[in-house]
Amino acid sequence: MTTTTFDTLKFAAEEVAALKKENRFIKPRVLESAQAPVSVIDGKKVVNLTSNNYLALADNPKVKKAAIEAIEKYGIGSAAVRTIIGTMSIHKELEEKFAAFKHSEASILFQSGFTSNVAVCQSLMSSEADLLISDELNHASIIDGARLAKSPRKIYRHKDIKHLTEILESPEARKARRKMVVTDGVFSMDGDIANLDEVVAVSHKYGAFVMVDDAHASGVIGKEGRGTVSHFNLDGQVEIQIGTLSKAFAAVGGYAATTQDLRDYLGSVARPFLFSSSQPPSVAASCLAVLDILLTEPEYLKRLWDNTNFFKEEMKKAGFDTGSSVTPITPVMIGDMDKARALSAKLFDEGVFALPLGFPTVPKGRERLRTIVTAGHTLKDLEFAVEKFKKAGKELGII
Ligand SMILES: *Cc1c(COP(=O)(O)O)cnc(C)c1O
Repeated sequence: MTTTTFDTLKFAAEEVAALKKENRFIKPRVLESAQAPVSVIDGKKVVNLTSNNYLALADNPKVKKAAIEAIEKYGIGSAAVRTIIGTMSIHKELEEKFAAFKHSEASILFQSGFTSNVAVCQSLMSSEADLLISDELNHASIIDGARLAKSPRKIYRHKDIKHLTEILESPEARKARRKMVVTDGVFSMDGDIANLDEVVAVSHKYGAFVMVDDAHASGVIGKEGRGTVSHFNLDGQVEIQIGTLSKAFAAVGGYAATTQDLRDYLGSVARPFLFSSSQPPSVAASCLAVLDILLTEPEYLKRLWDNTNFFKEEMKKAGFDTGSSVTPITPVMIGDMDKARALSAKLFDEGVFALPLGFPTVPKGRERLRTIVTAGHTLKDLEFAVEKFKKAGKELGII
């Protein structure tokens, strides 16, 4: 091992020490198997309640086969950004099929959900005369997108339509060149769903357009997993649908589904599209395979929701506070990081993995374990997990 140290980087050790003191130092556990309902993590077989692999398709044979075939046909990577020569026919096919899935005119692919948010916020909020209006609990990538935008931004209280209306009625909003209201579809830490119908109605009333981030909603809610717009029957009424291909789609990538004009505009100006290479063809192929499964095999979505309902009920019955979730994300509220960590550690020893989350991922005082069940968990897996939660919860005085 090299042991080079640099006096000039001494601050890093101090920063790490400070993080440790604040309970913010992160040392991820390591997955040694596929991302599966029962996974091998840090050498131990555990019921995995922590991944976003909602439909349990991360190691699905059909999806893997599609990826392998695409490697055979197209090779492993595009070795270029989309606008140079990184646009492959399989990217075009995925964009077309995704637009159809979202009932929109067109879609554009990005490298991730994160870069999709950054791309759209930065490209559309390009002047100080614009105004970006965002729910306070929106994802970090929307916050960073807003930071890269030239426009000012206003934050409304979580799902508070009255507050959103006040902002839209403000002189600053009235004189704005463009106004974009941004909300997560499903909020990633609490598992509640945006009141998108009301957000759309009030936004349109005041001449704003809407962008919804469906990272935790695509493949999860709405007809055939089409997302929040479908969930609220708002087809044709939401200007921009963003999402990720890394959660229910189990691969990696992101998209914006929108009008053809806006798609064309983003394809010429969005910086992640212009300056970062395109999705590997095997990844696009696996996303196409997942789309096909969503449209033809409804049992995955059904199992996801059956499991969700069962787990939530059992956890509530056991006396845990599961917050405001109505989706497969079930937070187990603890309110203290040391306790959340202790619960997670006990559960891991007993064969269940549920990650503790604290500041800055969630606000201080709202520390929790976040669980996500998948379509792949068996009833036995979930019963086992609930039993272990009960045992550890009692030992720690949480229930
Ligand atoms: C996970 C997530 C993202 C980021 O998606 P990636 O594809 O992992 O970059 C963006 N928005 C929300 C709401 C998310 O939950």
